[in-house]
Amino acid sequence: MRLLDAIFDSNQRFNQAAKSTLAPGDFEEGLPLVALTCIDARLNRLVPDALGVPESHFIWLRNAGNIITGPMSSTLRSLALACAVKGGREILILGHTDCLVRKTGTLELLGKFAALGIERARMPENLQEYFGLFASERQNVLKAVEHVRASPLIGPRVPVHGALVDIATGRLELLVNGYQALSVATSSASAVMAKGSEAISGGALALPSPESKNSLPLAEIKFPQFKIGEGMARVEATLGEMSAPTADKPHPAQTTSPAKPPPVPADAIPNLKRLVDLARHYRIIGGDGKHYGPVPATVLLRWITDGRIDAETSVQVDGSSAWVKLHQLGEALHRLGARRK
Ligand SMILES: [Zn+2]
Repeated sequence: MRLLDAIFDSNQRFNQAAKSTLAPGDFEEGLPLVALTCIDARLNRLVPDALGVPESHFIWLRNAGNIITGPMSSTLRSLALACAVKGGREILILGHTDCLVRKTGTLELLGKFAALGIERARMPENLQEYFGLFASERQNVLKAVEHVRASPLIGPRVPVHGALVDIATGRLELLVNGYQALSVATSSASAVMAKGSEAISGGALALPSPESKNSLPLAEIKFPQFKIGEGMARVEATLGEMSAPTADKPHPAQTTSPAKPPPVPADAIPNLKRLVDLARHYRIIGGDGKHYGPVPATVLLRWITDGRIDAETSVQVDGSSAWVKLHQLGEALHRLGARRK
């Protein structure tokens, strides 16, 4: 069992009274673990217990909102040194529910600063950008993971995980499995990283520019036959107990890829990466006409890679009410991005 699996395994049994701690000797490959969390004081005692990683093998970084603003940002400098100097082997970006950074808007923030006697005129012009205010704890973690993954300061041998901890119960929700992301990324690491560092400054990751949309060779991608919806009958037969999908909350089993169709050629992956904004969530309509999701971009990418959705699949970006075909996603994201500014 690798470190991340052991953490989640232990977290399943976690409760405040009887906490379990991993035996460091069993996880030499993964420890010390470097974790980035929010500064929220409610996490002080909760996080070490929820992760079950012994204090001596736990490097803890914190900032307001566990925000990473770019692949060369100050937090990344610390993450990089935590690995290079302090020997950190795996990185976990751990968001939490009920985050005050998420709950604070720019107007409210201005009010709070005003109460401290700080004038608006002396503050950065773009407060949202400067303070990294975000609207979704999950998307904030995904964005941070992507910045770390894209950073030239973090080597390809360090898995970068993303998770959310429930501040009331200590339960963990896995958002990015860094082991999987590593194996997908390895074949196209250089392309993705080059694209990542170039797209970071805009905030929206891997968003194709208007000029590049014609160069997205989706038509060249060979999609296997097994698609979401069409394959569900097989999955239901296999799992027996799988409940019907709903538009809001997917059954956890649906967000994992239950069957193993032939993979898309590795050289197609960078192009797909460029099509998807990694900071967003998506819904799709399966071959059975049912809605699946919302799922994080990493899951959408896996579905594409596994051939479970294709260029003609209907996709909806969180934050938009419009449904578009997957091959039009780049333009849809571009419109959304433009509207946001
Ligand atoms: Zn917080």
